[in-house]
Amino acid sequence: MHDVMPAQIGDWQYLEAQLRALTAAYGYQEVRFPMLEPTTLFSRSVGENTDIVAKEMYTFSDRNGESLTLRPEGTAGCVRAALEHGILFKQTQRLWYMGPMFRYERPQKGRLRQFHQFGLEAFGMPGPDIDAEIIALTARLWRNLGLETKLRLEINSLGTLDTRVRHRKDLLEYLNVHAHALDEDSVRRLATNPLRILDSKNPTMQALIAKAPRLLDFLDQESNDHFAQLQELLTTLGIAYQINPHLVRGLDYYTKTVFEWVNEEMGAQGTVCAGGRYDGLITQLGGEATPAVGFALGLERLINLLHLSKPAQQSVTPDVYFVLLGESAVQSGLGLAERLRDALPTLQVLMNAGGGSVKSQFKRADKSGAKYALVLGDDEIRANVIALKDLRGDFATQLSIEELIKFFESTLHERRVL
Ligand code: ATP
Ligand code: MG
Repeated sequence: MHDVMPAQIGDWQYLEAQLRALTAAYGYQEVRFPMLEPTTLFSRSVGENTDIVAKEMYTFSDRNGESLTLRPEGTAGCVRAALEHGILFKQTQRLWYMGPMFRYERPQKGRLRQFHQFGLEAFGMPGPDIDAEIIALTARLWRNLGLETKLRLEINSLGTLDTRVRHRKDLLEYLNVHAHALDEDSVRRLATNPLRILDSKNPTMQALIAKAPRLLDFLDQESNDHFAQLQELLTTLGIAYQINPHLVRGLDYYTKTVFEWVNEEMGAQGTVCAGGRYDGLITQLGGEATPAVGFALGLERLINLLHLSKPAQQSVTPDVYFVLLGESAVQSGLGLAERLRDALPTLQVLMNAGGGSVKSQFKRADKSGAKYALVLGDDEIRANVIALKDLRGDFATQLSIEELIKFFESTLHERRVL
């Protein structure tokens, strides 16, 4: 579980701002739901035999002996909240959320125990049009972040439950014939969740997976049409994709469309964004049948990817550092800074606090990254002015508070125009 310190916060704020702007551009609305839910919510939705539920959940009993789990993903909580507040029945909803998720994984690069996801869910729309919309939204995000050449789109269709039952029969036959070549994880999955074997990241398993029966060959007519129409829409939108017939997802609730955006350089942790359709989940959680599609993207992985091509984003630096020399300067300085903030709410003023010599205060001013220093001492107070000094150039002058407000008004205006 990582701390995010001020040196890294610029990346997070940049990404969060990009995501908020993007969701607004597509008419999605934010929802916030608890980080803690009854354990059964996840076992019933994500699935008992998935890695997440079988191995990765942070589960504990509360004082009443109720089993609770720190959310390992967002879809289950989002659907629970939407059902509880009655916003799904006979309605369409476009929702998003962002926040920490928890999985008890073996910590390694790109795999944390507390990580952050941005997730988005669209409810009440059965067709491939909305699948295409959310894929287009993700493609736009990569363009906005300058990552369009770094990520490759893979799509597949998991069909319906019936598709999977028929596929499972052939898959089991095939896997039993090749049982000697299965790794330990896969042997365990053979008995519980054989489809997940296709999702194995183990290199020694890839040849076996490549020849396994493909879900696509078992699709019912409706799923087949849905998948064909999705491809047509993606082509019309100019979004390149690859069909990966072995793409399955680590959660049980998916139906029809599944997709992943993958980066090759990051290896087994290269899936940055993953999602798909889950038309059965809402009834499974006690609601009326409601089609749904969504995705989640890992913010840490996205930040790692941004760093492969760009240095870290600057964190916010103040516009002004206020140097206060002597007791009376402290007395009137705080009030002058408040007047500046009253007049210019976006101006960022960092006050010197805790005293210090001229030299040490200017050192702090320089270290803060501020462009200007304001200096108030006995001389300035007597003359009713404040000294202004450009910390990154030679410019220096003395101004009254009214003139200072005008000065910063025009520099802030320039900043906005830039
Ligand atoms: P993986 O196959 O890499 O284990 P997953 O199938 O478990 O991924 P999802 O449950 O689909 O992942 O989560 C969506 C996204 O969240 C992933 O694509 C990834 O970017 C991110 N993610 C998942 N688990 C972690 C983790 N432990 N640490 C950091 N990011 C994660
Ligand atoms: Mg995982």
